Amino acid sequence: MSSSDNHVQYLLAPLEYTLAKPFLDQITSSTAPALEVRQTSDGKGKGVFARQGVSEDELLFRERALVGAQHSSNKAEILACSQCFCFVGSIEAQIAWRLTNEGHAGGTVQRLQQGLKLPFSDQFSLPPIVSCPGGCTDEVYCSRACADAAWTEHHSLLCCGRDDQGSAQQRTLLDRGTASSSESRETACSNVGAMREFREFADATNDIFHVAARATARVCLHAQAQLQGAMHTLGEEQAWTALQQAWLPFAVGWKAVWWESIAVPEDIEDEATFRAELRDLAEESLDLLKPALAAQASAFPALFDLRVYGSIIGMFELNNLGMVVPSVVERYLLHVYMDRADPEILAQQHAARKILDPLREQLGDAYDQPCEGTAFYSLQSCINHSCDPNAHAMKGPEDLDGSAVLLAKRGINAGEEITISYIDESMEYEDRRVALLDYGFECRCVRCRNI
Ligand SMILES: [Zn+2]
Ligand SMILES: [Zn+2]
Ligand SMILES: [Zn+2]
Repeated sequence: MSSSDNHVQYLLAPLEYTLAKPFLDQITSSTAPALEVRQTSDGKGKGVFARQGVSEDELLFRERALVGAQHSSNKAEILACSQCFCFVGSIEAQIAWRLTNEGHAGGTVQRLQQGLKLPFSDQFSLPPIVSCPGGCTDEVYCSRACADAAWTEHHSLLCCGRDDQGSAQQRTLLDRGTASSSESRETACSNVGAMREFREFADATNDIFHVAARATARVCLHAQAQLQGAMHTLGEEQAWTALQQAWLPFAVGWKAVWWESIAVPEDIEDEATFRAELRDLAEESLDLLKPALAAQASAFPALFDLRVYGSIIGMFELNNLGMVVPSVVERYLLHVYMDRADPEILAQQHAARKILDPLREQLGDAYDQPCEGTAFYSLQSCINHSCDPNAHAMKGPEDLDGSAVLLAKRGINAGEEITISYIDESMEYEDRRVALLDYGFECRCVRCRNI
């Protein structure tokens, strides 16, 4: 086996617990000091345990995503920070963005584009739209801090730079809302044309590839940072050591190669063809990403191996990874449309509704559309499944970004394992069993053992 084959094998193998432990301790101490990650006694691998008693409804942790991305289709509906996923701009910008992208051009939409203020909207102020320091219109941010963090973490390699993408109306909206953006920067992408094609391919096929690209770029940038920029002057061994370090957060996430492990949908008859098609799709995507990140692909070849790329995709597709931020437009509309007792406010509400009725009609039933995407949360992904879980993901009105928020569903004793349900646990045993096939295991929880 060549050293490159060995490196690929290393990246594909589950990480030894002792190697993962320092990283896991670091996450719990910063995110959830009341919890610890350790090996389970029943052979499930690792699990998350309470160090101390926790009462019902108590917050277990709030965790930012290691890597995530808004769904491509959702981006046309919601203007959200590409780093923390909060809504940005203003109520007016949110409504105008969505209706413009859906092809509503006239009347109030046009006036919104031109800066019309809607009644009560000042009570729902949002952070300004901060544009990408590389000048692309693919991503927007809520602050310079988020723009800079994304640039450092992944976007400096994935940015297509200044371009003429997006319609004139979209540009007007973005420009109108744009606050002073970060200091302008040059993209480090090796081939912007290939990157643009990569992005279009992901939008058209499976937007999980966007998340995989962010993960790949993140690993490259962390490895480069350890090499202090001397990516090509150092030897292969040094590059490999840096890559191993940078890979650690992903090695900790449970993973398997996407097309080998995903459950076959019921309507598929030919399993081999189905798996081969997924593999081809991933290969086509990687073939576009490689030239876009040519410098990194030559410094860290093992990371750009198809099976390693497949295991990164698998990590996102095979974990419990939905990211949701509730709609601020929904809160705004409820504020205007729910009758208040105070007659003076009620009169203002009626006046406001005259302006809002046509917009509300155009928005239709999906006026409450949340910001949605896929994200990987290091700590949450260590929590094992149970059909009778003692914790659940639950966001409150103050949770306005893409963080995972976990609450105790009932009292939890010190030393007890924390569990969540990966599926709708109200289903019957057989349906639960089938749903869990997607996650690649058979549940041995109390409910499943006692049927
Ligand atoms: Zn942000
Ligand atoms: Zn950019
Ligand atoms: Zn179960």
